[in-house]
Amino acid sequence: MSAPTPSDPSAPALAATYGAHNYHPLPVVVTHAEGVWVTDQDGRRYLDMLSSYSALNQGHRHPRILAAAREQLDRVTLTSRAFHNDQLGPFLKRLSEVSGFSRSLPMNSGAEAVETGLKACRKWGHTVKGIPEGRARIIVAANNFHGRTITIVGFSTEAQYRAGFGPFTPGFDVVPYGDAAAIEAMITPDTAAVLLEPIQGEAGVVVPPEGYLKAVRAICTQHNVLMFLDEIQTGLGRTGRMWAFEHEDIRPDCITVAKALGGGVYPLSAFCADDAVMNVFTPGDHGSTFGGNPMAAAIGRAALDVIVDEQLPAKAAELGGYFMERLHELHSPHVREVRGRGLLIGVEVHEASGTARTFCEALQERGVLCKDTHGQVIRFAPPLVITRAEIDHAMDQVAPVLA
Ligand SMILES: *Cc1c(COP(=O)(O)O)cnc(C)c1O
Repeated sequence: MSAPTPSDPSAPALAATYGAHNYHPLPVVVTHAEGVWVTDQDGRRYLDMLSSYSALNQGHRHPRILAAAREQLDRVTLTSRAFHNDQLGPFLKRLSEVSGFSRSLPMNSGAEAVETGLKACRKWGHTVKGIPEGRARIIVAANNFHGRTITIVGFSTEAQYRAGFGPFTPGFDVVPYGDAAAIEAMITPDTAAVLLEPIQGEAGVVVPPEGYLKAVRAICTQHNVLMFLDEIQTGLGRTGRMWAFEHEDIRPDCITVAKALGGGVYPLSAFCADDAVMNVFTPGDHGSTFGGNPMAAAIGRAALDVIVDEQLPAKAAELGGYFMERLHELHSPHVREVRGRGLLIGVEVHEASGTARTFCEALQERGVLCKDTHGQVIRFAPPLVITRAEIDHAMDQVAPVLA
């Protein structure tokens, strides 16, 4: 093994000087990581309770995923879709087995997968449902988060995500989240799809009322509207089931998958649907130079195998329940609500107690990394390979900070 490269202590200053200022990171400089642990420049270890917003469900540098990546590096890394490669087919087959959808269209980032799905739903609306060309509309929820492209921020209700970036793509209708009747009232003959997160992660881990997804499913079926769920953050085991929609025993018409699909190693996303929707695409309609490349496909297949073989959804259910119980037992005067599902947990703190960021900074001092979302919510979303003992260790730090 080669000696570790000494890291440049001025790395964050260089990023501040030469990079765009579109993030406000906590002041920790990560140089190494393994499993649920990351190490900073001074050799200090931290428990990673954010896991890159659920992109690290399998943990940092999972050996099986690294092995697949190394093997593929020595064979072929990029072909473009102009040619076949020997990795894409087996990856798509595995994704189909795990998702239950007959076909997938691979892209790179989550936002691209959502854009792919929006295109599919619109084209399905025009060519299958019979909506007059250029009139298809898509219903979305208030406080949604689906990525950062112009089209996607155009239907965001977060002022900062939109300010200065217009004009926006038309064709979207916003309804309150968690209210199925509001969706039904918004549907017109031009409605092609309803796009929702099964749990709103960025909005502060907002869990909808029980029966919401089931009611939306029934409404969509009745009105011949596609139910399109964004499982980018909630999918691949995070909430205690492989997909969050399984909690309500329903099946949407299509989903987006990203984040943990790349196993924490490589950006990889997909839009998954059955033939009736996916077959609207014909050669030349849509694509991406890196989408479905052999590196991504080999890594993606290993990432899926790890989730299935290590039964990470069941682990998330069990340890998430335990973690949530421990958080409830704190009876902290600062906490307004503890909510979530599996290992996607939000702790909302009272405004009088300060912002969630203040609590995240205090946790960082104690060696636990997490991130605030929506001002008052601390999000806990550790890698799903975390152990009960590591949750206990986290609670030893969380308890005094919330006391
Ligand atoms: C992270 C996220 C996205 C966007 O993914 P990117 O890879 O950052 O483009 C979309 N939807 C949801 C629900 C997400 O959590």
